[in-house]
Amino acid sequence: ASMTGGQQMGRGSGPMLIEFNIPVDLKLVEQQNPKVKLGGRYTPMDGASVHKMALLVPFRDRFEELLQFVPHMTAFLKRQGVAHHIFVLNQVDRFRFNRASLINVGFQFASDVYDYIAMHDVDLLPLNDNLLYEYPSSLGPLHIAGPKLHPKYHYDNFVGGILLVRREHFKQMNGMSNQYWGWGLEDDEFFVRIRDAGLQVTRPQNIKTGTNDTFSHIHNRYHRKRDTQKCFNQKEMTRKRDHKTGLDNVKYKILKVHEMLIDQVPVTILNILLDCDVNKTPWCDCS
Ligand code: UDP
Ligand code: MN
Repeated sequence: ASMTGGQQMGRGSGPMLIEFNIPVDLKLVEQQNPKVKLGGRYTPMDGASVHKMALLVPFRDRFEELLQFVPHMTAFLKRQGVAHHIFVLNQVDRFRFNRASLINVGFQFASDVYDYIAMHDVDLLPLNDNLLYEYPSSLGPLHIAGPKLHPKYHYDNFVGGILLVRREHFKQMNGMSNQYWGWGLEDDEFFVRIRDAGLQVTRPQNIKTGTNDTFSHIHNRYHRKRDTQKCFNQKEMTRKRDHKTGLDNVKYKILKVHEMLIDQVPVTILNILLDCDVNKTPWCDCS
């Protein structure tokens, strides 16, 4: 069929608009091609997305939360047709918890069949189905737990909780800093990396729920105490952008890979032994 009035592909984005000068029965076309949507968007494999997501969960001693997280996220992402796999990044060394280094390790472990990662707190469960865990745009990371939605953190530059990052963007930023042992600030440092890379954070639009009903934060502050201790020169050192450490120099060993089923859902558990250079970051052990 010949094309008339067909728009040129504008700036490489969006579907091409094609008008046919032959009579077309749109209803019939729709019936015969149920997986092709208006504008030519194609969804293969019964609604599954083209891009695969590695769901990276920094983890230590949160078994009860994990037992809720896995079935919840599996059902939630299934409703959206997001192809994904859950990796539990289980820190097994004796150093303080290091969320960012675990994410670096998880990123290296998850092969490049995964087009993007979700760095995802185990205790933050999305409730609103309009929070789309989609492949982030070329602009930069997609922050699902934005400050207008997160139950606890409400500052503009917040990128913690749940952040989706394209594989190439994460590499471009050299991942996350490895200097953050104990609770906090690794996400704020990552925000500066995003900005320095010339990327920008996007967030879900038109969400009608708010800080109380968008997520369930299954976190009891007494039962799950945050490790906010600061020792040695941690305070000064973790307040500035780290240009030295990241994805390319995280020191670790994967002691064991467990393939498990939680409520019939396959989950990969990585037992990760992080290494700490106590001369450089003595605050990995404050005892
Ligand atoms: N986390 C963990 N064990 C810990 C500390 C943290 O598994 O001892 C993980 C877990 O995924 C948690 C995330 O790190 O959701 C963020 O920590 P936390 O919930 O304490 O931070 P919040 O955002 O609630 O201040
Ligand atoms: Mn929490």
